Amino acid sequence: LVVLDGVQKHFGQLHALKDIELTVKRGEVVVVIGPSGSGKSTLCRTINRLETVDEGTITLDGKPLPQEGKALAALRAEVGMVFQSFNLFAHKTILENVTLGPIKVRGIKKDEAERKARELLDRVGVGHQAEKYPAQLSGGQQQRVAIARALAMDPKVMLFDEPTSALDPEMIKEVLDVMVDLAQQGMTMVVVTHEMGFARTAADRVVFMADGAIVEEGTPEEFFTNPRSDRAKDFLGKIL
Ligand code: ATP
Ligand code: MG
Repeated sequence: LVVLDGVQKHFGQLHALKDIELTVKRGEVVVVIGPSGSGKSTLCRTINRLETVDEGTITLDGKPLPQEGKALAALRAEVGMVFQSFNLFAHKTILENVTLGPIKVRGIKKDEAERKARELLDRVGVGHQAEKYPAQLSGGQQQRVAIARALAMDPKVMLFDEPTSALDPEMIKEVLDVMVDLAQQGMTMVVVTHEMGFARTAADRVVFMADGAIVEEGTPEEFFTNPRSDRAKDFLGKIL
C-alpha cells in the first residue's frame, strides 16, 4: 500500500533519511523504533508529504505522492496522522473537530458527517463528550478524539508519531487499547512508539532506525528476542 524506494532526505548538512526502502502492505501494522534523532518522525512526515524528499520515490496505492494543490489535500485525508501533541482546534467542540475535515475536504453533508463522527467518538469511548471543548477533556480523551478525527476522513493508512508519549501513565493504556482495536480491525498502520508492549502485541513488523537508516527489521518476536545488529542490541538493552 505504501512503498518507499531509495528515499533520501537532508536538512542542510544532516543526512536525515538514508536510502530508505520500506513497504507497508494493506492491513499491516509496522512499528518504528529507534533512538532520538534517528529520523522516525521525518519518515512519518514524508509519507503524508509534510516533508519533501530529496531523492527516491514514495507511492500510495501505486501512485506517487502528489506535489501540491487539491491532490495534496486529498492525500492528507487518505493518510491519517496522529501526533504526540493532539493538535485539536481549541475553539471548536469535539464534534466540530471531527466533522470539519469530512465537511470541508470530503464535501460530506453536515448531518451525515455528524452521524459518522458520533459513531467514531463512541468507538473510541468519548461519545458522551461530543459537545465539550478540548480543554475540558483529559489528555487521553483528547488523543482518542484526534484518532477519531483522522478516522473520519476514511484514511487508507494511519500514521502515529509517539501518540502516547505526552500522556500520563494511566491514560496511555486507553489510547493503546484504541490502537490495538484499530489494528485488529485491519487498519494499515505505521506507529512510532516506545511502547514495547504495543509493539509485541500489535505489530506485524518492527523496523529499527538509527542515524537516518533502517538498520534492521523483523517480526516483533525476532527483533525482541534475537536482535542482530549491535545498534539494536544496545538500544534494547537501554529500554527493556
Ligand atoms: P525523537 O525520538 O526525538 O522524536 P526522531 O527519530 O523522530 O527523534 P527526527 O525528528 O525525524 O528524529 O529527526 C531526525 C534528525 O533530523 C534530527 O537530527 C533532527 O534534529 C533533524 N531534523 C528534523 N526535522 C528538521 C528540520 N525541519 N530542520 C532541520 N533538522 C531537522
Ligand atoms: Mg520524533
